[in-house]
Amino acid sequence: MECDRCHADIEPEEEKNHLGQTLCEDCYMDALSPVKTCDPWAVHSAKSFEKHAEGALILTPIQSEILSILRKTGGIEPQALVKELGCKLTQKELEREFAALQHMEKAGGEKRGDRGLRRLW
Ligand SMILES: [Zn+2]
Repeated sequence: MECDRCHADIEPEEEKNHLGQTLCEDCYMDALSPVKTCDPWAVHSAKSFEKHAEGALILTPIQSEILSILRKTGGIEPQALVKELGCKLTQKELEREFAALQHMEKAGGEKRGDRGLRRLW
C-alpha cells in the first residue's frame, strides 16, 4: 500500500486509516494531532517563508524562535522543543527546520548520555 499523503510504501501492519485515507504511521500521527489547527496562520507563514528563503541564509520566524529556545535552554530534546514551540510545528516539520539550521551552522545535535539534544552551534 501507499500512503495517501507522503506516498511512502507502507507495510500492511503499519497501515492506518483516517477519514477514508490510507496513511503511514507518521502521517497518521500528524493527522491525529490537533497542532495544525491551533495556529494555521503561523504554519502558513512559516511555509511560505520557507519557499522564499530557499537557499538564502535568512532565518524564518520559526527558525529564529527555535534558536532563541535553544539559547534559553542550552540544549533541548526534539520532543520538548516541539512543545516549547506551542502548536506551530509537527515533529517532522521541526526536523526539516532544524536541518536547515544545521546547514547554516547555527545549531546542531548532541548526544548526552542516551538523550539526543538539539543545541546552538
Ligand atoms: Zn505518509
